[in-house]
Amino acid sequence: MAEPRVVIVGAGGAAHALTGLLRALGNDAQIDIFTDRPYAGYVVCEQPYFLRGRVGFDDMFYARKGWYEKVGARIHYETPVQAVDRERKVVETSAGAFPYDVLVLNTGAEPAAPPIPGLDGVREYHLTSDVRRCLSFAEAVDGARRAVVIGAGAIGLEVAEGLVERGFERVTVVEGEGHVLPRALDPDLAAGLEQRIRDRGVDLRTGVRVRSVRTEGPDKVVELPDGEIRADFVLLATGVRPRVELARAAGLEIGPTGGIAVDPFLRTRDPSVYAVGDCMETWERITGHRRPVLPMLASHTNRSGRLVARNIHHGPRFEYPGTCLPFGIELFGVTVATCGLTGALAERWGLDTVAVRSRGVLAKPQLGGERVEIKVRALRTNGRIVGVQAVGGPGTARMIDRAVLAVGEGVPPHRLSLYETVYSPTLNVAYDAFTQAVDRLLVEGGWS
Ligand SMILES: Cc1cc2nc3c(=O)[nH]c(=O)nc-3n(C[C@H](O)[C@H](O)[C@H](O)COP(=O)(O)OP(=O)(O)OC[C@H]3O[C@@H](n4cnc5c(N)ncnc54)[C@H](O)[C@@H]3O)c2cc1C
Repeated sequence: MAEPRVVIVGAGGAAHALTGLLRALGNDAQIDIFTDRPYAGYVVCEQPYFLRGRVGFDDMFYARKGWYEKVGARIHYETPVQAVDRERKVVETSAGAFPYDVLVLNTGAEPAAPPIPGLDGVREYHLTSDVRRCLSFAEAVDGARRAVVIGAGAIGLEVAEGLVERGFERVTVVEGEGHVLPRALDPDLAAGLEQRIRDRGVDLRTGVRVRSVRTEGPDKVVELPDGEIRADFVLLATGVRPRVELARAAGLEIGPTGGIAVDPFLRTRDPSVYAVGDCMETWERITGHRRPVLPMLASHTNRSGRLVARNIHHGPRFEYPGTCLPFGIELFGVTVATCGLTGALAERWGLDTVAVRSRGVLAKPQLGGERVEIKVRALRTNGRIVGVQAVGGPGTARMIDRAVLAVGEGVPPHRLSLYETVYSPTLNVAYDAFTQAVDRLLVEGGWS
C-alpha cells in the first residue's frame, strides 16, 4: 500500500515529534507542514530564559533550518491554512489547495486575554509559542525599569525573576487568586515560595484583581483596588486557550474544556483527522474517571505527536494514556514540582480528599542534600493518591517523576510505601522523603 499523504497544520513541538518518529519508523509518507509563522522547531519554554540572557536566540532551536527538508518533509512557512474541506480531503492555504489522506491538527493555543477594562494593546505583551512576540517583548524590556506582570503562574513568575535579575527598579506581579502558581500548588505550600519571591525584590500582590489598565504618555497605569501603579509595560501572563477555529469551522467537535475532542487514538470525530498538543482536549489519569482536561504542557505535546506517528504508521491501535498534569519550575533558587490535583481542583470536582504535609531531605544536608517539603493528597474513600506537591531543591523534580508514575498507575499507597529506591549517602536517604510522606498519609488517613 502506498504511504499516506500526511498534512500537518501547525509546526509546533508535536509536529516535530510526529515527523521525527514517522521517519524513524521507516515511514515514507509525503509530509506537508503548514505554519502561519516564519519560525519553527524551537523550545517554546526557553523564551523566559532567552529574555534573561541565559540562552541565545539560536540556542532555542532544536530543529535547524533545513531539518524538515533533510527528513523529507515539506515545511511551508508563513502559509496559513484557511479551511479544511473534509469531504474532498483537502486543506485550503494561502498557497493553494493540498490534498491529504491523514490530517493532523497541531494548531496550538492563543492568549486568553482577561476582561480588564482599558486594555488597548499599547505596550501590552503576551508570551505564547510564537517567538516573534518574545522578540518584541525583549525590545520593550530593553531600556525599561518598571514592569507590571498580571498573573503569577509559571510564565509570569519566570519573567518577573528575569526582570529582577536585570536590575529593574520595580517589578509588580498581580495575581487574582489568593496565592502564586494556583493551578499547581496549594496555598500552604505556596507560602514559603511567596516569601522568597518578595525577599528577592518582587512587589507581589496576591488575591488582587486589576480594575483597569490605561495608557498615559509613556506610562501604563494599572489600577488596583488600593491604588495605581505606573509601569513602562504590562505583561499579560494570564493563560492561553486552545486555538480551534479551523477545527470548529471544519465541523469537528470541540470538547467541554474548549479543546478539540478526540478518541483514545487521538482521532477527532473524523477518523482521517487527528489532533495533538495544546489544541486538543485530553483526559486525566489521576482519579480513574478520565475527566476532560487541558494540560497545555510540553511533554504532553511531544507524547501526543509521537503517539499519532505510531497510529499513522501501524493503523490506529495505540491509545493515549491521558495526563497526570505534571508541573515543575525553578524560581529564585526554589524548585516546585507537582502532579495531580490541588486541593482547589479536587474540591471543584467534588472529591473528598485527605492531605498530609511532611518535611524531609533528598540527602543528608551535611552531604549536600536538599530539604524538601511534600504534600500528598489521597481520595478519602480508598486512599488512592491523587496529588503530590513538593517544594525544595533541584532533586525535587526527579522525585515527582516517580510520583507521576504512582498517580497515573494508581499504585496503592501500601505498595508505594515498600517500593525500593536508590540509596547512597550523597544521593538520597534510605527511607526517602516521598516514602515517608506516603507512610504519614497511611497513618493519618487511617489506612495503616
Ligand atoms: C513562554 C512559555 C513557557 C512555557 N514553559 C513551559 C514549561 O516550562 N514546561 C511545559 O511543560 N510547558 C511549557 N509551556 C507550554 C508549552 O510550550 C506548550 O504546551 C507547547 O509549546 C505546545 O506545543 P504545540 O505543538 O501544541 O503548539 P505550538 O508550539 O503552539 O504550535 C502551534 C502551531 O500552529 C500553527 N498554526 C495554528 N493555526 C494555524 C493555521 N490556521 N495555519 C497554519 N498554521 C497554524 C502555528 O503557526 C504554530 O506553528 C510554555 C509555553 C510558553 C508560551
